[in-house]
Amino acid sequence: MRYDVLTLFPDIITDYCSYSIMKRGIEKGVITVNTINFRDFTHDKHRKVDDTPYGGSSGMVLMAPPIFEAYESIERTENSEFIMLTPQGEPYNQKISLELSKKDQIILLCGRYEGFDERVRLGLKPREISLGDYVLTGGELGALCIMDSVSRHLDGFLNKEESSVNDSFSEALEGRLEHPQYTKPREYRGMKVPEVLLDGNHAEIEKFRHKESVLRTKIRRPDLI
Ligand code: SAM
Repeated sequence: MRYDVLTLFPDIITDYCSYSIMKRGIEKGVITVNTINFRDFTHDKHRKVDDTPYGGSSGMVLMAPPIFEAYESIERTENSEFIMLTPQGEPYNQKISLELSKKDQIILLCGRYEGFDERVRLGLKPREISLGDYVLTGGELGALCIMDSVSRHLDGFLNKEESSVNDSFSEALEGRLEHPQYTKPREYRGMKVPEVLLDGNHAEIEKFRHKESVLRTKIRRPDLI
């Protein structure tokens, strides 16, 4: 999987990707992360990427020309997806992350300030994705959420013991939330690990986990049932 991130702050992307499992994914060659700063596609001496909105109002709007030129500089593979991060897009979820993991290139466009000149959307026709019904300062966090969650589905990204197969929202759990997890010590501040998890009866453990997963999903996220 190759990620191409169009951003004014490439360090946010490269910093996050230089830790832990993302870093290992790059080292193993499962993912490649490229950043493209659309400020590099300006032609004036101030390297201007934004301007005041037509019609008046507060804030600055990202101009179309540097974004078009930066986008056009990227070599697109046949099986690629172009995503614009925007609070006005379709809400992101695990189903979309699984769908995106079947691509071999994802181009992510991160906004800032008041967002994009509408002609970016009209002219480049990205798939518009939102992280949720709240407004962030920039699209980089959204791009990283997508990159991280998509990568978890890729062969070789996670080790066997880190498998995503039984994660919350997975097919194995029929879309439910995962059961509660416990590790050592057996007892902490009067809170004990449920007995069933300690005696090695795998059928009983599975029954317990299934019950807990259903119960927790019914209580917390009845919409998933
Ligand atoms: N004025 C815009 C609006 O009200 O729709 C919000 C602009 S926001 C301050 C700046 C940038 O952050 C956006 O262009 C987008 O890339 C990113 N962003 C903010 N909230 C987001 C969200 N919920 N999901 C995805 N991206 C978001």
